[in-house]
Amino acid sequence: MRGAVMYGPGDVRVEEREAPRIVEPTDAIIRVWAACVCGSDLWPYRGVEEYDWPAPMGHEYAGIVEEVGAEVQTIEPGQFVVGSFWATDNTCEICRAGYHSACVNRVPMGALGAQAESLRVPLADGTLVATPDIPSDDLVPSLLSASDVLGTGWFGAVAAEAGPGKAVAVVGDGAVGLLAVLAAKQLGAERIIAMSRHESRQRLAREYGATDIVEERGDAGVTAIKELTDGLGAHSVVEAVGTQESMMQAIHATRPGGHVGFVGVGHDVALDGMDLFWSLAHVHGGPAPVRRFLPELIDLIWNRQIEPGKVFDLELPLDEAAAGYRAMDQREAIKVLLRP
Ligand SMILES: [Zn+2]
Repeated sequence: MRGAVMYGPGDVRVEEREAPRIVEPTDAIIRVWAACVCGSDLWPYRGVEEYDWPAPMGHEYAGIVEEVGAEVQTIEPGQFVVGSFWATDNTCEICRAGYHSACVNRVPMGALGAQAESLRVPLADGTLVATPDIPSDDLVPSLLSASDVLGTGWFGAVAAEAGPGKAVAVVGDGAVGLLAVLAAKQLGAERIIAMSRHESRQRLAREYGATDIVEERGDAGVTAIKELTDGLGAHSVVEAVGTQESMMQAIHATRPGGHVGFVGVGHDVALDGMDLFWSLAHVHGGPAPVRRFLPELIDLIWNRQIEPGKVFDLELPLDEAAAGYRAMDQREAIKVLLRP
C-alpha cells in the first residue's frame, strides 16, 4: 500500500509501505477515505522536533472498516468510522473521567501513519465511532476534521469554559483556532474575538461566529482584547499556537478568574511563576481528549449543523503529500486534505 513517510526535515515521500494487518485481537483495519496534514506535523518538518527517521506520518483519519480482530465487539466491517489521534480503551478510569488522551492503554496513531491507504487502529471498540451510515462525499472533510482539529479546537473552548454570556478570545488562526471559534459559537459564547492577520482566515473566522477580529499580537494584542472587554480581559481564551508569545498573550488577555484553554503543542514555552500567580487565571489544556467529544461532533456534522470541513482549503491525492506539507509550511493552505 502507499503511505507518506518523512525522511527528515522538509523531506516527505509517498512510497510503498507494508500493508497493515491485525496484530492484537482488539485491532481493526480501515481503508482510509481521507487523511490530512496536521499543524503539528510541521514541527518535525521544520526540524524543530527530532524524530526517528524515516517515520510514517499522519494521525487523522476517517474511513471504512475492512477487518476486525477476534475480540472487537461493536465495530464491524463496512462501517464508516472516525477515530482520534490516540487509540484509547474508553473504559479505564482516566477515559471515564473524559481524559482519553491520557488513557492508561493509549497508543499514538501517529506512529502507525494515517497518511496511507490503510491503517491499523488498536483498541477499535474504544477508539472508533461509526457514523449512522456511509456519508455522502461532501460530509467526509467535516467528519475527518473531527479526528483532530475540530476535537482539539472544541476541547480548547471547553477547557476555557466558553459558554453563554462569555467573551471568548482565540489566539491562533490555524485550523484548530478557527474551529475553536466554531466551538465557542456552538457553546453559546456571546462575543468571540479571533486573532488573525490573514484575510481569508478572518473571513472563515467570521463565518464560524467571530464577532471581532484583532490583528495585533503580543502586548498590543492583549491591549486590543482588553479594549473590547471593558478593560477586564476575556472570560475565556483559547491558545492554539504553542509558542511563548501566544501563551503569554493568552494568559495576559484573560480576566482575573477567567479560563485559559491551551491546545497548541507547547515548544520552548516557560511560564513565569509570579506572572501566573498574579494572573488569577485558570489554566487548563494539553493533548485534546477528542474521543470524549466524537459522538456529539459526528452528530452535529451528520445533521449539518456545523461545517468544520471548510478549514480544508486544499485537497490533494495522497501521492502529492509532499506538496501538501509545503503548502501548509508556507501558509499557502490552512489545512490540506489527502485522498488515498
Ligand atoms: Zn482509557
